[in-house]
Amino acid sequence: MTALLELSERLWNGEGNTSDTDPLLTFLSEEVADGVFFLASFGNVTAVDAGGELTLVDTGIDVLAARNHETIRAWTNTPVHTAIYTHGHIDHVGGVGPFDEENAQRGRSVKVLAHEAVPRRFARYAGTAGYNTSINLRQFGADTGFIFPEHFRVPDETYVDHLDMTVGDESFELRHGRGETDDATWVFIPQRGVLCTGDFFIWASPNAGNPQKVQRYAADWAVALREMAARDAEILLPGHGVPIVGTDRVRRALEETAELLDFLEQQTREMMNDGARLDDIIHSIDPPAHLLERPYLRPVYDEPEFVIRNVWRLLGGWWDGNPATLHPAPENALARVVADLAGGVTALADRALAQADAGDLRVAGHLVEMAVQAAPDDVGVHRARAEILRRRREHATSLMAKGVYGAAALESEQRLR
Ligand SMILES: [Zn+2]
Repeated sequence: MTALLELSERLWNGEGNTSDTDPLLTFLSEEVADGVFFLASFGNVTAVDAGGELTLVDTGIDVLAARNHETIRAWTNTPVHTAIYTHGHIDHVGGVGPFDEENAQRGRSVKVLAHEAVPRRFARYAGTAGYNTSINLRQFGADTGFIFPEHFRVPDETYVDHLDMTVGDESFELRHGRGETDDATWVFIPQRGVLCTGDFFIWASPNAGNPQKVQRYAADWAVALREMAARDAEILLPGHGVPIVGTDRVRRALEETAELLDFLEQQTREMMNDGARLDDIIHSIDPPAHLLERPYLRPVYDEPEFVIRNVWRLLGGWWDGNPATLHPAPENALARVVADLAGGVTALADRALAQADAGDLRVAGHLVEMAVQAAPDDVGVHRARAEILRRRREHATSLMAKGVYGAAALESEQRLR
């Protein structure tokens, strides 16, 4: 068995842990089916060599474009005819450049194909580059020095709902669905039984809740996964992580991911229909533990609690149902009153630490944040805040929560120097 498929086998069997992201940030690549090359990168790239033409499904992030190009060229010299973006996230659309250059020398061009909402995404990115830089630094670490791009290789052609096409002698079925994004495409290659899911499947609990990003679509996501499952693909090639091989495994991975999303969406909707507040909902719904234990559904990137919030946002609105938050007081005004009631900010911070010691990191988080709001220059309060946020980071399962807590802890730590 090849290295990539061996890693897949180990992860599927629960050996090796996706919490340790290393197995999923592998750069292994190999031919996974006759004429189908899979490059595990960030994000993954699939190349299909058929009838003298090469088709790419996704192209990876721009900083890895040269490396990905070189890896693909070590496998085949067939010129690229079409590159499909499974969606417009920057880790999927940054790798066309070297193939464009190569084709220009041959007097031909790459046809980039995507869903019709991709160009709108790029336009939005151009207007929010500063915000996107800051949230990505928070999510992936300030030390990455990341700057969000403002220019993109735009699609040459777009489609609306579905597109069946032939490149070389290979047929491709492109289907639109909404999931992590509103511009997503999954691709089925029927002759080879290969399914390219894009980020509908990423070896982690679905990124349907991301706290710092635009709306995600949990229910539509589940619909798309069930449509994919119905194809009985033999190989699943995901947007991130390693392939899954075998019809039964592929179907199970897709259907169980759909089951988790449907559970969260339905439970949230039912409580909304019963008039519950958002607070009641996020503290009442327990996602099925057997699903979250699956090696491909662990909440290592996003987490179910955040998905519930996104369902609320989609079906409801921004208000959480608490009358106090409709026209809230400035946070520092409320914090000063509470600190006063508590007998000062030190008492508030001490109580926060005591709550944390007792294992109640949620209440501790509120109390210490109020203490800092009431006394933003108090070094003792910042020490308590840094301590509590570091503990929250340690206890968090998702990269998103770890990123938010880590960045906030750093703010307070910088005040201690
Ligand atoms: Zn991605």
